Amino acid sequence: MTTAQVVNPATEQIVSEVELFGVAETDAAIERAHRAAADWREVAPGDRARLLRRFAEAVDANLERLARLEVANAGHTIGNARWEAGNVRDVLHYVAGIPERLLGSQIPVAGGVNITFHEPLGVVGVIVPWNFPMPIAAWGFGPALAAGNTVVLKPAELTPLTAIRLGELALEAGLPEGVFQVLPGKGSVVGQRFVTHPAVRKVVFTGSTEVGKAIMAGCAQQVKRVTLELGGKSANIVFADADVERAAATAPYGVFDNAGQDCCARSRILVQRSIFDRFLELLEPAVRGIRVGDPSDEATEMGPLISAAHRERVAAFVEPSTEIAFTGTRRDGPGFWYPPTVVLPGAPTERILTEEVFGPVVAVLPFDDEADALRIANDSEYGLSGSIWTSDVGRALRVSRGVEAGNLSVNSHSSVRYWTPFGGFKQSGLGRELGPDAALAFTETKNVFIAAS
Ligand code: NAP
Ligand code: MG
Repeated sequence: MTTAQVVNPATEQIVSEVELFGVAETDAAIERAHRAAADWREVAPGDRARLLRRFAEAVDANLERLARLEVANAGHTIGNARWEAGNVRDVLHYVAGIPERLLGSQIPVAGGVNITFHEPLGVVGVIVPWNFPMPIAAWGFGPALAAGNTVVLKPAELTPLTAIRLGELALEAGLPEGVFQVLPGKGSVVGQRFVTHPAVRKVVFTGSTEVGKAIMAGCAQQVKRVTLELGGKSANIVFADADVERAAATAPYGVFDNAGQDCCARSRILVQRSIFDRFLELLEPAVRGIRVGDPSDEATEMGPLISAAHRERVAAFVEPSTEIAFTGTRRDGPGFWYPPTVVLPGAPTERILTEEVFGPVVAVLPFDDEADALRIANDSEYGLSGSIWTSDVGRALRVSRGVEAGNLSVNSHSSVRYWTPFGGFKQSGLGRELGPDAALAFTETKNVFIAAS
């Protein structure tokens, strides 16, 4: 096996070396998962639930260690990293309710009895990006395991450490060998093999729209099931009747959290023209006040970007001609730092308004009325998330129904709650994760008719 170095993005120091799976090792792991699937689906529902709860408890017992590992590997703030590890625990507890509640239906028919079953698919391949290594992994493997599938999971090359640890914790909690395996390696090798290997019956992918399209095309060869969580260019729409102080004070956190490396980042702030100048006046101190720095410091609100290459990609969006309204704290020295940056775009075709930056750069632009706000918000190939700030309930509902996006929040910037469905419209993705129907994405409905005469 070849190895890859894992780098701390806040210090540029090497954290550890990880062995990368090649095609042969990937095939062997998929074979193990395939064999394990036959037994795993037969584990009694209550026992499968108990094993998932034990897995959740193992994550909880290791919460601080997992969080510290993510701070070192991904540069996440310690507060965020604790939330992320806690989210894995909570998702596991939530999906532990699935095995005992995976209800089919009895449908009235003539001449007999008709029942449906939700059968597991077999082996599920989960491909995870580097921006939220722990939660995004758990949203895939949690419900997949609960529904009776086995899982092979490929973490991003840049951020494999917490996933590897979660794989060990699953074994320590008593999940049988082969039920949940973590395969560090390249997307073009391990991830691609999930797409082409016939024993993998579904691919769950989170990442760039470009790679997502290639995975969807590849899966078509075997009519393989696929869930895609892709990019976003979400709008934060602030109406003049909103609590403007609160809207401005919270807007930075709706886009700069995780240094903007969030598919739900509200990277376009649409402000009603009558309050545009006042909003910018209020936004400036909020942006300047974001505490950028050492992610292991409890007070830090924003850490570095994931890599030098990614910082270059982000920086390229702010062109010499781009009008910068103001920036937040700029850090020098080692680490892949980029300051929170607020820009005032010109033409609606500018890249900063159409492409996903995936960094701490936000565009603020004015709109005239409700119809204009919807037109601008929907003028995107993406449709993942968004926020609506208004004190008018009717407007909140109208605009929520009008925005073409999967996850909206009114007078808040929340996107992901494990109790509720998550996913995108248009080129932001295909399918939904989490929520009460999470298991259905990992099962096939089987209909059985039993003749009664
Ligand atoms: P990416 O290439 O889409 O990577 C996401 C995951 O897919 C990684 O595990 C990657 O493995 C794997 N992968 C890459 N090529 C693959 C292939 N041909 N077949 C199967 N799996 C493959 O994303 P990125 O290059 O890290 O980031 C590029 C941009 O994508 C970002 O700047 C951002 O705009 C967007 N993005 C969005 C999200 C999101 O949450 N929606 C997450 C990440 C990135 P490797 O790690 O080995 O490349
Ligand atoms: Mg890539």
